Amino acid sequence: MMIKYNLICKCGESFESWFLSSSGFDYLCRKKLIKCIYCGSLSVKKSVMAPNLPSKSNKVFKKTKLEKNIKKQLLDFRKYIEKNCKDVGENFTQEARSIHYDKKTSQGIYGKATAEETSELLEEGIEVATIPWIDKSEN
Ligand SMILES: [Zn+2]
Repeated sequence: MMIKYNLICKCGESFESWFLSSSGFDYLCRKKLIKCIYCGSLSVKKSVMAPNLPSKSNKVFKKTKLEKNIKKQLLDFRKYIEKNCKDVGENFTQEARSIHYDKKTSQGIYGKATAEETSELLEEGIEVATIPWIDKSEN
């Protein structure tokens, strides 16, 4: 027999999960195998058994909320980079190489590079990351 539970996390999100039985849930919970799909927390509690109906509006709402969270994280990341790293603009590839080969500075840099340039840097063993540059004025 399968039982569907509505699980609630301490972060406030809720999601559905199927279990073999109610003891199945307790077992997985004890083994810390049930994680929140939104924040990864193990503080997940089972709520009342959910009726077997997909709540569409609810899902759309959650997705939007999740997207907003991701956007906020990327925006925070952008702020962090702007505060702690040097903007080298179009010279990014050149600067990244000079830091890597000359060990000039330990300061992080950021700037623009094409996908081709980025893969060249990675091939040379230079650690670069591409992040979506979120527009501050958005939202
Ligand atoms: Zn959570």
